[in-house]
Amino acid sequence: MSMFCYQCQEVAKNTGCTIKGVCGKNKEVAKLQDLLIYTIKGVSDVVVKGKVDITKHDETNYEVLSCLFMTITNANFDGVSIEKQIRKMMAKRDGLRKSVLAENLHDAATFTVDSRDDML
Ligand code: SF4
Repeated sequence: MSMFCYQCQEVAKNTGCTIKGVCGKNKEVAKLQDLLIYTIKGVSDVVVKGKVDITKHDETNYEVLSCLFMTITNANFDGVSIEKQIRKMMAKRDGLRKSVLAENLHDAATFTVDSRDDML
C-alpha cells in the first residue's frame, strides 16, 4: 500500500509524505482520512445538486465539521474511529440522496464499500 499526503505545513520535502507522515500518520490512516473527505464531498454533491436546505440538517452539519476536524494534523490517528465515521457519513449521504431528486451525481455521492479492505 502506498501513501501520499500533502495536507499540512509539516509535509516532507515540501512535496508529500510518502513513506510515513512526519506527523506520525501511517499509510492506513492517510487512506481512511482521504476516503472520509471523499465521502463528505459526496454529501456536498447531494446537497448542491439536490437543492437540500442544509439549515434543516443540524446533525449532518455537525458531523461534516467533525469529519474535517478528524483529518487535521495530529487530531485523530485512530483508524477504527475514522472507519466508523466513514460508515456514518455514507449512511447520512444515502439518506439525503434518497430524499431528493438529484441527477448526475458524482461517484463520491454514490460509491459503496463494505469492508475495511475495500476502504483501503
Ligand atoms: S498531515 Fe502528516 S502525513 Fe500529511 S503532510 Fe502533514 S506531516 Fe505529512
